[in-house]
Amino acid sequence: MLSEFDLIKQYFVRPLAGRAALGIGDDCALLAPTPGMQTAISSDMLVEGRHFFAGEDALRLGHKSLAVNLSDLAAMGARPVAFTLALALPAAERAWLDGFSRGLFALADLHRCELIGGDTTKGPLNICITVFGEVAPGRALRRSAARAGDDIWVSGTLGDARLALAGYRGELTLPAEAQAAAGTRMHTPTPRVALGVMLAERSLAHAAIDISDGLVGDLGHILEKSRVGATLNADALPAGPVLATQPQALRRAFTAAGGDDYEICFTAPASRRDAILAAGAECGTPVTRIGRIDDAAGLRWTDASGAPLPLELSSFDHFTQ
Ligand code: ADP
Ligand code: MG
Repeated sequence: MLSEFDLIKQYFVRPLAGRAALGIGDDCALLAPTPGMQTAISSDMLVEGRHFFAGEDALRLGHKSLAVNLSDLAAMGARPVAFTLALALPAAERAWLDGFSRGLFALADLHRCELIGGDTTKGPLNICITVFGEVAPGRALRRSAARAGDDIWVSGTLGDARLALAGYRGELTLPAEAQAAAGTRMHTPTPRVALGVMLAERSLAHAAIDISDGLVGDLGHILEKSRVGATLNADALPAGPVLATQPQALRRAFTAAGGDDYEICFTAPASRRDAILAAGAECGTPVTRIGRIDDAAGLRWTDASGAPLPLELSSFDHFTQ
């Protein structure tokens, strides 16, 4: 049997990568912040049966637990530095721990984000990560910073994760290959860290949010905090490659209100269009202009020609669904 301390030592302690002054092993870790920088902090919890199915592949779970947290740093324009991991496990299974830690560290290493501590306990599977990042004062991409006249942009594509979920739930049937491709988007999201950092460091964007509960709902947070409204072009929303093969009604519903996308929705002045497209190209993340911020409160839809559309597309809420 693996003891709690053997488990931590074998699967989570690694040589210090130099981002922290003191890592795992004491009562606290110690971080030495870069002078003059602000620390961005965010936590996200993944609960079995709520955020992932029982029996989910451990490697993918390791990736996703950190990815959803890095996505929050990206949406703030902060560079990842370190993270903690609080883990409740039903049993100390070597195969599970091996897969989980490999998925976790593969993504952590990609972003030079160091595991500096955490907590481990027996219990129903629950994974809670807290990430720490750095951003220069005044540069963070806040939800309250959208201005009337801003363009609204989104990174990558939307809706494939929601399409995969529909397939798993039996709401529709996809060919096996399509289900697997959409499932990849759901299980191994790509946090848009490089793009977020460029948007902040180059002062390209005003407001940003990462899309975890669906575009409409998450953009709604920007509208509320910034006290503005928006008009979105339903035909401009970039559908994921699998969703793109589906009928228009489904494309619209799942791009607008899918969930689990982990793309960044951001607003920016029209004068920055070229620089934003260049930043997207530079970091290999496509960016699409999908609408504009208005003075008038509320969300309006048009088609590609600008004609109004009477759409009611809502969002995912953990307490009503
Ligand atoms: P404490 O008794 O203060 O709660 P623990 O005995 O739980 O400390 O943890 C010992 C050390 O191992 C601490 O430095 C803690 O941050 C670290 N640690 C515990 N669990 C994890 C984990 N899942 N991942 C990374 N570090 C962990
Ligand atoms: Mg502890």
